[in-house]
Amino acid sequence: MYKPTISTVAVVGTGVIGRSWVQVFARAGCQTRIFDKVPVQLKNALAWLEQDIELDRKAGLISAEEAEKRLALITAHESLEEALEGAGYVQENGPEQLELKKSIYAEIDKASDPEAILGSSTSTLDITEISAGLTGARRCIVAHPVNPPHVIPVVEILPGKETDPELVVCACTFLASVGQKPVLMNFYLPGFLLNRMQVALVQEAINLVKSGVADVEAVDSVIRDGLGLRWALMGPFGVANTNSDGGIREYYTRYQQAYIDIMNSLGPTPSFDADLIEQLGKGTDAMVGDTPRAEIRHWRDRMIRKILELKEK
Ligand code: NAD
Repeated sequence: MYKPTISTVAVVGTGVIGRSWVQVFARAGCQTRIFDKVPVQLKNALAWLEQDIELDRKAGLISAEEAEKRLALITAHESLEEALEGAGYVQENGPEQLELKKSIYAEIDKASDPEAILGSSTSTLDITEISAGLTGARRCIVAHPVNPPHVIPVVEILPGKETDPELVVCACTFLASVGQKPVLMNFYLPGFLLNRMQVALVQEAINLVKSGVADVEAVDSVIRDGLGLRWALMGPFGVANTNSDGGIREYYTRYQQAYIDIMNSLGPTPSFDADLIEQLGKGTDAMVGDTPRAEIRHWRDRMIRKILELKEK
C-alpha cells in the first residue's frame, strides 16, 4: 500500500528544525521540496543551508561535488500544494500550537498524495489530537527529532490511535534509510521518551544548584566528563548491565536499596523564578566566557559527528 522507496520528500515549515530536516533528506539523496508560510523564513532557510553545506565543504567533511549535489536536490516552493507534489514523505515543522498544527495537517492531508506518510516534528503534542477527523488520520505519525536532526540521529515515532501499523513500519524503514534512528513509542505520554528522561535529570540538576550542593560547572562536569561519556555508547540499562559482573539482574538486586533511598530524596519541581534563571545564567556565562554561541554550536556539532564516526567504526 505505502511506497517502499521514497525519493521525494516535502518539508513544511523551515525554522530551526525544518531546515535541519532538509539537510537529512538532501544528504540521503532525496528530492527535497520545501515550503514555509512566511516567505522570509524560506529565504533564511535557503541561506542557512547554503552556509552550513559550505562550512561542511570547507571543513573537508564533504566534497565540492557532494555540496553541489545536495543543494541541487533542494527546491523552495511558494505554495504548499506545489511543495507537496510527488512527495512520498512529508515532515511538518510548524509552530508548537495544537490549533495551528491541526490546520496545517488538514491542509497537508487535503493536498498531498493520499499514500504519502505525514510525520510531525512536534515535541509535546499527541498525533491522535492533531489528526482527529482527518480523512488521512491513518497516515499520520509523530516523528520527533532531537535538535539538530542532521547531526543527532534519534527520532521518536508515535503513531496515533487511527494510524495504520503498516505505515508505522514504512515510516521507520524510510527514516532509517535516510540515516536516522527511529525509536517507537506504543502510546502518548507528555514529553515522549527523550524529554521525560531529560526533564527528570534537569529537575535534579536545578535542585542541586538551587540548594547549594554544587555549582553549575560541577553539575555540568558530572555529565560532560562523567556519565555523558558512557551515555554516548549505552543507555541507563546498558550501563547497569555492565556495572556488575553479573549484569543488570545482579546490579539492581544488589543496589536496589541505594537506588530507592536516592529516588526518595530527589528534589521537587522547581519554580523557574528570575533569581534561579539568573543564577544558572551566571554559571553558564562563567563556563563559556566570550565565545560566541554560534561557534560553540558548530564545535558541538563537529564533535558529535566525530563520536558518530567512531561509533560506526
Ligand atoms: P520555528 O519557530 O523555528 O519554526 C516554525 C516555522 O513554521 C516558521 O518558519 C514559521 O514561519 C513556519 N510556519 C508557521 N505557520 C506555518 C504554516 N501554516 N505552514 C507552513 N509553515 C508555517 O520552530 P522550530 O523550533 O523549528 O520547531 C518546529 C517544530 O519542531 C515544533 O513542533 C517543535 O516543537 C519541534 N521541535 C523543536 C525542537 C527545537 O529544539 N527547536 C526540537 C525538536 C522538535
